[in-house]
Amino acid sequence: MFIGHIGAGLALKRIAPQLNLGWLMLSSFLLDILLWCFVLFGIESVIIPANYEQLRYLTFIFPYSHGLLAVAAWAFLSYVLVNAGTKMKRFALAMSLGVISHWVLDLLIHPPEIPLFFSGSPMLGLSLWNNLAVESILEVVLLGAGLMLYYGATAATTFTGRYGMLISLSIISILAIGGQWLGPPPENGLQIASSSLGSLALLLLLSFTLDRTRTAKLL
Ligand SMILES: [Zn+2]
Repeated sequence: MFIGHIGAGLALKRIAPQLNLGWLMLSSFLLDILLWCFVLFGIESVIIPANYEQLRYLTFIFPYSHGLLAVAAWAFLSYVLVNAGTKMKRFALAMSLGVISHWVLDLLIHPPEIPLFFSGSPMLGLSLWNNLAVESILEVVLLGAGLMLYYGATAATTFTGRYGMLISLSIISILAIGGQWLGPPPENGLQIASSSLGSLALLLLLSFTLDRTRTAKLL
């Protein structure tokens, strides 16, 4: 899931309209940013299944970035750090909700590979990836709902503000869904981790920049 998490980040603007979207997007992707960093350092792993061309998804050993206990700690830490840094409980709440939303959405789509605690504990996952058509529709619906909430919470101040987000997210959606359906199998974990971190850095840059072309409405 990629664009579904973007939808969650956009929706959080409804809770914290004054907080730049880049921060909200950082919270909704924090667990994946941690995952790819941990993969680069050999702490967690990504597995490319031999039948990737049929499955169209990767599998993971990721107790420290995606295990339920670890995620509770990341969400708590996000709340504490953002509250300490901004003195705004609403910002802290929005960012910790972003972290939790990522886990809930991942729970829907991953096969049972999300540990309750650490390796060896019961594994969770509802396997929606096994029905890629339904999973893709869910992602588009989440993105659409997030975009509507984002547009409802903000108002354009420039021409770019009016259309920039819609156009860029449409392009990202086509690339992300097209890649999942038709992309070749990735080469190895390091390549996946570095290209994913690159894509996330671009997404954050885009979010920080485009959000400045819209202003928060008084809700
Ligand atoms: Zn994830």
